[in-house]
Amino acid sequence: MTPPPGLPARLEHFIGGAHVASTDSATFEVADPVTNRPYATVAAGGPKDIDRAVTAAAKAFTDGPWPGLPARARARVLNKIADAIEGRAARIAELETFDTGLPVTQARGQAARAAENFRFFADMTVTLHEDAFSSPGQFGYVIRKPAGVAGLITPWNTPFMLETWKLAPALASGCTVVLKPAEWTPLSASLLPAIMTEAGLPDGVFNLVHGIGEAAGAALVAHPGVPRISFTGETTTGQTVMAAAAPHLKGLSMELGGKSPCVVFADADLDQATDSALFGVFSLNGERCTAGSRILAERAVYHALVTRLATRAEHIRVGDPADPRTELGALVHPEHYARVLGYVRAGQDEGARLVAGGARPAHLAGGNYLAATVFADVEESMRIFREEIFGPVVCVTPFADEAEAIRLANATSYGLAAYVWTRDLARAHRVARAVESGMTWINSHNVRDLRTPFGGVKASGFGREGGPHSLDFYTESRIVHIPLGDTGVPRFGA
Ligand code: NAD
Repeated sequence: MTPPPGLPARLEHFIGGAHVASTDSATFEVADPVTNRPYATVAAGGPKDIDRAVTAAAKAFTDGPWPGLPARARARVLNKIADAIEGRAARIAELETFDTGLPVTQARGQAARAAENFRFFADMTVTLHEDAFSSPGQFGYVIRKPAGVAGLITPWNTPFMLETWKLAPALASGCTVVLKPAEWTPLSASLLPAIMTEAGLPDGVFNLVHGIGEAAGAALVAHPGVPRISFTGETTTGQTVMAAAAPHLKGLSMELGGKSPCVVFADADLDQATDSALFGVFSLNGERCTAGSRILAERAVYHALVTRLATRAEHIRVGDPADPRTELGALVHPEHYARVLGYVRAGQDEGARLVAGGARPAHLAGGNYLAATVFADVEESMRIFREEIFGPVVCVTPFADEAEAIRLANATSYGLAAYVWTRDLARAHRVARAVESGMTWINSHNVRDLRTPFGGVKASGFGREGGPHSLDFYTESRIVHIPLGDTGVPRFGA
């Protein structure tokens, strides 16, 4: 892959409206996943940089106009941010593809969704209204206030889209923010300062601190001036974040890992189920929290489905992420690549049947490439069945009946998404109800509706993002009561 033209050699923080280096001048290097050669030096934030950013955000919150603006005025800025993203969509996709290894056609879709995140929350904020509670003796109404400085911590898969998925509702709510992007993929976030400035967002409302999770991320979570942390990342990191936030009693939204089942009953439309199952696990390089990475197939169609999945997987085009024909690009980082390959070995060692992929494609000598990999006859005791792989690897497991399908679907600590394929409507609803997942799609792949609650149960996290759920997280709802007559107060000491 040729590096995109005009690639910045240095990436800096953006604090209080200015591009700045770290206070101690610390930096780290970032590489692209095709050559694994460093392409830029990035400011490595620490507690002092986080403190500067939180101070700037707190000042913009208490002294600046942003939290008090009428919703329409904030929505105008959010729409201008969306315009600025759309104006740069090709550049965002190009940089994202270079930095993450995501196929460029998919990165373009993510850039469009990033703009939509801002448009959606612009619309929400102008139509927002509050509850009022009327009874004969008393009237109550809700006042909603922005929570303050929001800390946003994001992962390396679809970085730009996920950053905007947090920025848009936080800004719509009137919060000011400090964003800490993932250290493996800081490039697309470096476009945000110009986007925010061009849209007229006041200085200090948006702050960006790059850095390693254990330093910059941890400092953001530990900072007493940040009452909200929205975190997306691994379950184990989420546990660390929760423990660090506990002494401050911070509000947390935790979007964590997944190992989502795709349950295919014998009466399903097998053509559609096959397309959906393949897209569900191999799009975004399989580095997708909602990937349907365990395909559970009813015995009557099991062998047919395994054959279809294997044949199609062998034909998935793996290669240069910047080539629009590529369906599966390069995995984000050599460490992650090694981890995914470790799972492929574990699957073979534990006796699963490898029916497609399992290795670097022969035509790709370098880069973090793995052919689309399908394991059949996967048993629930195997690590590849239970643990999140977060790469282009799918497990297929047979089931005998509905009860076994539900049991297997729930035989993991995660509970993010589920996909159910059947023509039996009543069964579809029964299974959707019984599967432990935050989100279920029946006879469909992951099609999002931004109004709906997004999030997981069990080890996949807690709190919901999307529509009013996001605005609830970034605001405080306060109730005001007023009596409409005699409230009958007991007269102590009278
Ligand atoms: P990660 O947990 O390693 O890192 C996520 C972010 O947390 C990064 O910005 C990192 O720097 C930061 N971080 C690391 N240690 C920290 C600490 N001690 N304190 C504060 N911040 C810290 O996750 P990742 O490898 O970047 O992302 C992949 C994971 O994200 C997968 O498990 C995937 O399922 C999950 N994910 C979940 C969703 C969802 O919505 N549920 C969406 C996308 C990704």
